[in-house]
Amino acid sequence: MKILEVTNLCKTYGKGDTMVKALDNVSFSVEKGEFVAIIGPSGSGKSTLIRCMNGLEEVTKGEVYIDGQLMTHKTRAALNRQYSSMVFQQFNLYPHLTVMDNLTLGPVKLKKVRKDEAEALAMENLKRVGLEKKALVYPATLSGGQQQRIAIARALTMKNPVIYFDEPTSALDPEMVQEVLDIMIELGHDNITMVVVTHEMGFAREVADRVVFC
Ligand code: ADP
Repeated sequence: MKILEVTNLCKTYGKGDTMVKALDNVSFSVEKGEFVAIIGPSGSGKSTLIRCMNGLEEVTKGEVYIDGQLMTHKTRAALNRQYSSMVFQQFNLYPHLTVMDNLTLGPVKLKKVRKDEAEALAMENLKRVGLEKKALVYPATLSGGQQQRIAIARALTMKNPVIYFDEPTSALDPEMVQEVLDIMIELGHDNITMVVVTHEMGFAREVADRVVFC
C-alpha cells in the first residue's frame, strides 16, 4: 500500500532573474514500511523534495498525497503532524530543554498525550537508541552523534508512521557516523516508513529497500 505519493511535483524558489527551479516534474511513491534512500549531487533538490513531502514547503505545481489524502495549503500542517516526523542535519534539539522535555514536547503539545504516558514512551525510545541515562541532561552536554540519536528518539516518540531524515550524518565527525547509521538500520527492520536523504552511498545501497536518484 502506498503511504506517500508525489505526482508531477515542481518547486521553484524566487521570481524573475533570481528564480531557481529546484524540482521539475518529479513523480514517485513510497510503500508503507519501505526504507527509501534519496541520493544525488548537492543542489539537485533532495532536501526540497522531502520538505515538500512533509509540508514544510508549499509546492509550486503537482500533488503530494499522504495515505491517499491530498496535501493542500489548508491540510499540510495537520497531515504533517499526524503522519510525519523529521530528523535534521543539525539535530534541531531545543537547547533550553532537557533531553526528556525535548522528547515529550511534541506528543504533549501537538498530540495531547498525557505527560506521564509521553515520558514512558520517551524512556522506551531513549533505551532504543542506547541513551536512557541521558534523559535529564541538556543537549549541549552530548556529542553530535548522541544528539542525533536523541533527535531520532524524539521522532519515534511522535509515533508517526513516516520519518524523514535530511542528511542525518552530514554534520557529524566521522567517528560518530556509524552509531547513527546503526540506529537507522535497526529502525529499517520495523514497520516505520523511512525516507532518507543521504550522502552515504554504501549505506544507502546496503540498507535501503530502494535508492532514488534526484
Ligand atoms: P539538495 O538537498 O539536493 O542539496 P536543495 O533542495 O537544498 O538541494 O536545493 C535545490 C536548489 O534549490 C538549489 O539550487 C538551492 O540553492 C535552491 N534552494 C533551496 N532552498 C532554497 C530557498 N529557501 N530559497 C532559494 N533557493 C533555494
